[in-house]
Amino acid sequence: MRVTPLPGAAVALDPDGSRRHALLLRFELPAQSGGPGWAVRLERSALEQVWVERGDWRSPPQGFFEPGEDAGVLPSSFLFALPAHWHGAVELELHAVGGGRRPLRPQVMEQARAMELEQYGVAASATIYACLFTIGLLALALYSAARDLLFLGLFGLTLAALLALSAVNGHLYQMPGLRLFAHWGGQGAVALTLLLCAACLQMLLRFVEMRQGRVAWKRWVDGMSLAVATLAGVCLLNLPALAQPMLKFQVVPYALSLLLGVAMLVDGGRRRIAMAWPLATLALFTLAGVVLGELASRGHVVDTLVVRYGSQLSVALCVAILAVGLLGRISEYRHQRDRELLARADTERRMARETARSGLATELQSQLRSLPPAEMQTTAFRLLVDRLLPLLPVQSCVVAVQGYHGVDLVLAEPSRLLLSVHPELARRQLALRRLAAQGVPQQQPVTDPAQPAIVAMEAVVPMQIRAPAWGVLLLRRAGGDGFSTDELSLAGEFLQLAVQQIDQAVAANNLRRSAELDALTGSLNRRTIDQWLARCFGEAARDSQPVSVLFIDLDHFKAVNDRHGHAGGDFCLRHVAVALRGALEEGDLFGRYGGEEFIAILPGRNGAAARMAAENLRMAVENLRPVWNGQPLRLTVSVGVATRLPSEDTPEGALARADRALYSAKSHGRNCVQVAPAVFS
Ligand code: GH3
Ligand code: MG
Ligand code: MG
Repeated sequence: MRVTPLPGAAVALDPDGSRRHALLLRFELPAQSGGPGWAVRLERSALEQVWVERGDWRSPPQGFFEPGEDAGVLPSSFLFALPAHWHGAVELELHAVGGGRRPLRPQVMEQARAMELEQYGVAASATIYACLFTIGLLALALYSAARDLLFLGLFGLTLAALLALSAVNGHLYQMPGLRLFAHWGGQGAVALTLLLCAACLQMLLRFVEMRQGRVAWKRWVDGMSLAVATLAGVCLLNLPALAQPMLKFQVVPYALSLLLGVAMLVDGGRRRIAMAWPLATLALFTLAGVVLGELASRGHVVDTLVVRYGSQLSVALCVAILAVGLLGRISEYRHQRDRELLARADTERRMARETARSGLATELQSQLRSLPPAEMQTTAFRLLVDRLLPLLPVQSCVVAVQGYHGVDLVLAEPSRLLLSVHPELARRQLALRRLAAQGVPQQQPVTDPAQPAIVAMEAVVPMQIRAPAWGVLLLRRAGGDGFSTDELSLAGEFLQLAVQQIDQAVAANNLRRSAELDALTGSLNRRTIDQWLARCFGEAARDSQPVSVLFIDLDHFKAVNDRHGHAGGDFCLRHVAVALRGALEEGDLFGRYGGEEFIAILPGRNGAAARMAAENLRMAVENLRPVWNGQPLRLTVSVGVATRLPSEDTPEGALARADRALYSAKSHGRNCVQVAPAVFS
């Protein structure tokens, strides 16, 4: 069923261009009771008030800036339902007040059809607002995550777009709190749209100059932004004289801003800025939409849904694509943050490693110094493992050394592995030795014979020690995760440090020994014995304790030399020294005083105790049967004993007395002990 417009429909009643408009609508409604209701529909434009009337009947007025109660959510038109009993030829007056520029094009249609059109409009504007709203929230979230003002700018842009588009559609004035915008009328919407233009230009500038800091467009954009912002300010002055010209020429700043935006984006596209080309295309669509809208408002083009909302949808899409383009910044931030985190972790790791390294060096230096060589390696490698494991997560760690400074050693962490490690090392000895000889850390998968899968990774870090000695550090990590080069070099570095410190400690020990000991017999040398003599006598004098000295001289040693040669004599000297040392007690000091003469210092022992000790020494040598060239030798010693006198705090007197006692023993037939009397007559 159709409504038939009568000839001469929509006659303008008041075409003089004033703020009041009236149209006379003539149409014929089909005469059918119970049929569909009819309505007059008018596209929504910036009219202050609009209503229809016929005789006594007058519809409730509606307005763009003050929507009526029944305007609905996000209305896109002014709808006037006609009384149901009207039919036949109808003459209806349409009255409008306000500065709407669009020509009044009322349509009479079935109410259902009018509602359908209304719903399209609602859907279009709701989509646009939802899109902008989502991007705004996203921009805020991005700003709070990245703290980049650019995202705050994007939020500002979406806000400007929401305000401007909802003002253009008249929905802004429906929202509580924003109704005051109605105060500026049509100029308010123009001002908001101009501000949107400025915001868009600034954002596009940031976007196209994001990567390269080009300032080429800055002057243009700043100039244009300033101009449109100034125009917006002028609009907000709300001067009645400017209302009509502003509405009439608003398209000019919009179009110029859009053209500048398109030019910038084309340049950006040429410079391969991601999303610049799609944005340029959308900006062109928007421009086309703006121009079409302008033509429609001047009556040159029919005002359809596409014309009405096309440019708005383009703006929303532009903002969406801009947001996507800006998201690229996030990955830049992430990379930058990752780089920073990596650098910080690296520094911390280096510092931890350096601390552990210097700690290990200090501990090795202080602890190895006082240790006998046999214990040095155990201590050093234990310290190494203790320092290394916190830096290097492993399942097990084994140090295996053979012949290093004459020591074989296996150390395992956790120590319960030690039992199983020994047979494994014995089995793999050749292979490990070969790996150790290659001198560089290596790693290999460990498979379980029961299952073909890799159960662990094993790193073999060789010790840099002189062949034929060899040693390795075996690190095992569960699963298939290998060791990084960094980890292997760390282990190598620590191992090298331990080896260095052991070498140094052993060398220092050797040096000390060679300085203190007699090379032939391994007992203390004359220099050392003299030092000990002075010290023991000093301490004994201080504590009023006895101390005795024994001179031990081999009997007829010249004859031994003559019979068995010098080598035989040396052989005997070594054996006698061992026997004498073995016969002494702990705490006694023993050395070679010169030639075939030995000395013993017995701290805390008086003459009688010293005599017994001397007798033990004598018998030890007497019972000795060193075999030289298949011939058992018989050796004896004479011993002279002297004890510190209470008045003495230096050894000279006692030494002289012991020497004389020895002489006395020689003259008493040798192989005997003589104790010096307190004072020789
Ligand atoms: P006496 O019982 O009186 O002590 O007789 P003796 O032969 O031991 O006499 P004396 O002490 O005078 O002789 C010391 C000899 O010891 C002289 C030297 O040839 C020998 N001698 C000293 N130092 C060494 C050494 O380092 N090696 C060897 N093989 N002989 C030495
Ligand atoms: Mg002698
Ligand atoms: Mg002698």
